[in-house]
Amino acid sequence: MLRIREFITLLMINNMILRSEMISTYKTTDFSKVVHHQSDHRDGESLHIGIDDTDNRSGRCTTHLAFKVTEQILRKTNACFIDYPFLIRLNPNVPWKTRGNAAVCVRLKSDIKDQQRIIDIVKYYVESEAVVGSGSNPGVVFFREPQLPETITEFSRNAMCNILSRRDAIRLAEKYNIEYFLLGNGRGIIGSLAAIGCLLDGDHTFEAIAYRRPENFGTSRILDSDRIIECSKSTYPYTFNNFDFTNRRVLIAPHGPDPVFCGIRGENARIVVSSLQSLNIEEKLEGCMVFRSNQGTNMHLRNEIKLPEAKSFTSGHIRCMVSTRPQIVQGGHTLFSIENREGFRIPAAVYEPTGLAKTASLLAEGDILELGCGIRRASSKHPKILNVEYFTVLELAKVFELHNPLCRTCSKSMKSEGKGKGFQCKKCKLKESSSLQKASIQIPREISTGLYIPTPKAHRHLTKPMHRFGLEKGLTDYSKDSAIHSNWFFLN
Ligand code: ATP
Repeated sequence: MLRIREFITLLMINNMILRSEMISTYKTTDFSKVVHHQSDHRDGESLHIGIDDTDNRSGRCTTHLAFKVTEQILRKTNACFIDYPFLIRLNPNVPWKTRGNAAVCVRLKSDIKDQQRIIDIVKYYVESEAVVGSGSNPGVVFFREPQLPETITEFSRNAMCNILSRRDAIRLAEKYNIEYFLLGNGRGIIGSLAAIGCLLDGDHTFEAIAYRRPENFGTSRILDSDRIIECSKSTYPYTFNNFDFTNRRVLIAPHGPDPVFCGIRGENARIVVSSLQSLNIEEKLEGCMVFRSNQGTNMHLRNEIKLPEAKSFTSGHIRCMVSTRPQIVQGGHTLFSIENREGFRIPAAVYEPTGLAKTASLLAEGDILELGCGIRRASSKHPKILNVEYFTVLELAKVFELHNPLCRTCSKSMKSEGKGKGFQCKKCKLKESSSLQKASIQIPREISTGLYIPTPKAHRHLTKPMHRFGLEKGLTDYSKDSAIHSNWFFLN
């Protein structure tokens, strides 16, 4: 814990701003000779750019668009990046998301002439790369002040766990003089505004994403799983979700036709870049960029769910009591009911792919839990359901079973003679009157108190991996005025 904090602080005090000279060649970069540049534009004009909803299921990716835009900014302007590009995951239960509900943000300082050039670059790429008409509804925002208004950061906090409206986003943008640029139905303005409003001044992680060349899109990704395993072990606990050791599955690469080759997630920029390098990827890549991110932080579950008013598609956590015995149903999912302090009941579901369903079936009425969950909409077949993302068993209830009494003479279990007819010993045939009661015996519980989270292959982007508990960064771990410099952008 202390070591990672010291390490990060060391990186922070370098007080660097990232500049165009930092474009380096992926395979030939010498990490021991990183040059730190001071900004020429400390007093330049601020520009926060938020981008969302530029992709659809058949390809493209908003992070790749941010990569292309960043390349152009580095090449064509003297702007300084005052932070890494941000990769912000928003409420994962939003029904109209394409995949992982990602939005991106780029924060810069530049002179006014460059600002206009940058805005034009962003608009050009969004217009030419976004697949409007087949599922993407891009929204881009440009905010030119150094400080984000509290209302925008509040909007961003809400976007992690609630469903927000496009109308409110537009109203806010107009109120604070935030320029926006929309295509399609423009719903992307919600995510783009939320991205600039997310300051990541508390817990955060990093991801180094490697991008493919267009000629390779759609072909299978060749990765050496031994190297991934080796990298995963040697960087533990400072990288996460590289390899699922239980299911023997590579987690760093997507499977679709999108431009992402793979991504390494971890606690600081240096470790994600060096891990990526250690994989010796053979495919000729387009390049790589490091994002600062809320991935792996459980940011979407910070909000407390209030019953009964909690709305469908929202996310959060709730302290509750198990109020019906869990049942495993078809498909291997576990269902039970919980009730809050006021006695309001709602069903909860732990789905089989999480790997937690069997464990959840060991819960019992009266157990006190904290659930991290999303709220599934009611349908004609079921009411609203809490879809469980993690559970913490806070207190275990005592569980008793009724057993037939033991025989007074031979200590064998007796047999009931029927309701109200007493008991008879199976061995010595001793009969006992109907006044003898069944014995209530406390049975040992097969589950203990503690935190239960899904198996890594079922993690959402925001799911906090088990080993990140205790590694969370606090307010003092990141200063906005001293952005970290590292080998954050490479072109091949
Ligand atoms: P990918 O992860 O591949 O980048 P995606 O899952 O991010 O794709 P998008 O194409 O960005 O999917 O679509 C998500 C849409 O949902 C965007 O228009 C975004 O503005 C909107 N959105 C994000 N968060 C919320 C929210 N909390 N409430 C309402 N709409 C939201």
